[in-house]
Amino acid sequence: MTHVFPRHTKANPPVAAYGDGCYIVDTNGKRYFDGSGGAAVSCLGHSDPEVTAAIKAQVEKIAFAHTGFFTSEPAEELADLLIERAPPGLDRVYFVSGGSEAMEAALKLARQYFLEKGETSRHRVIARRQSYHGNTLGALATGGNQWRREPFSPLMIETSHIAPCYEYRGRLAGETAFEYGQRVADELETEIQRLGSENVMAFVAEPVVGATAGAVPPVEGYFKRIREICDNHGILLILDEVMCGMGRTGTLYACEQDGVTADILCIAKGLGAGYQPIGAMLCSAVIYEAVEQGSGFFQHGHTYIGHPTACAAALAVLRKLTGGLVDRVNPLGDALHAALTDAFGQHPNVGDIRGRGLFRAIEIVEDRAAKTPFDPKRGINKALKKAAFDEGLACYPMGGTIDGVHGDHVLLAPPFIMSEDQIGEVTGKLARAFKTVL
Ligand code: PLP
Repeated sequence: MTHVFPRHTKANPPVAAYGDGCYIVDTNGKRYFDGSGGAAVSCLGHSDPEVTAAIKAQVEKIAFAHTGFFTSEPAEELADLLIERAPPGLDRVYFVSGGSEAMEAALKLARQYFLEKGETSRHRVIARRQSYHGNTLGALATGGNQWRREPFSPLMIETSHIAPCYEYRGRLAGETAFEYGQRVADELETEIQRLGSENVMAFVAEPVVGATAGAVPPVEGYFKRIREICDNHGILLILDEVMCGMGRTGTLYACEQDGVTADILCIAKGLGAGYQPIGAMLCSAVIYEAVEQGSGFFQHGHTYIGHPTACAAALAVLRKLTGGLVDRVNPLGDALHAALTDAFGQHPNVGDIRGRGLFRAIEIVEDRAAKTPFDPKRGINKALKKAAFDEGLACYPMGGTIDGVHGDHVLLAPPFIMSEDQIGEVTGKLARAFKTVL
């Protein structure tokens, strides 16, 4: 008998007893390789002594001090280090407790920025159909995941959704990857014109799409064109790096690889690495100054913003990431990609293997040549998740519908501390799960 309200009410999950590097061990002693870090959270694995010590030291000094009265040393130091490494223009950091909170703060700051400037009609948000930006109402409205949105649609702000940059399904025959990227980016221009640019405040996108479709990177030139369109219309670019940021794709900030910067950028998951719940919204000096020189008050806030213990944990995490750990991500990611290609490249039900760094996914199809997905009623992703879990691999198979097309995929986002040998363990366990299900 449990009084915990579980995520799936019919589930009966094992009890996680302790962490051991890349493994979670349950109370029966079974070990699970954490192949997706929950959902791209646990970049340091589960038993990092330095992060644990930083949390302990902070709690012993002071666990919490409300930001209505105080700032704290770990918050100040963490903000300095984040900005020192951030893409150009980002200048201020607002700490929250997770990804959805970061996105809510971003949306409200964008709106307030235009109010401070007297551009009061700017309120519309444009995002993409293949996206997830969180589960609170503003973030949910921004995301394009129909299944998550539908029950709550009467409660949500109106948002426009344009095409994603999803080369595997979207690129036309005879079109280069670059041409494809420009074509789908230009949908932003069309939507701005339809709404009237004086009414649009922001375009929101994940640089590498995570949960909705599985580690989908943009094609070259796509984000440069997006940036150009936003600038031409005075619209803010909000990048959601909640899942793909903090080194996950091989650079501390994912957008670095696309040669663009954001006006507002959100991070979470890997920032606290699961040791503490923390997220952050970074914004440009221009936006901050508009508030500072205008009303002088960001009209937003939660009790736990800038939580000192969470900031202390994140500071220890970030010191490790920037102190060499992120440098492991690309070589390990390339090795993981090669191992996945070896193990699944010829599989009749594997349509695409993709991603960047240690953020990789396999898209599963019924017919490889026609790219036909499985009937969602078959529940392929759920069956794979269970079979992999039975093998001792926790990974993140998901299904989603984009433009009416269902898709099943497996997302891998292992800890950056994993060894090359463990790549074989992950692909071996996953291959056995594929054999069981497919
Ligand atoms: N944005 C993206 C891209 C995400 O993947 C998620 C969570 O999966 C969120 C926002 C929401 O973050 P949280 O679950 O911490 O609220």
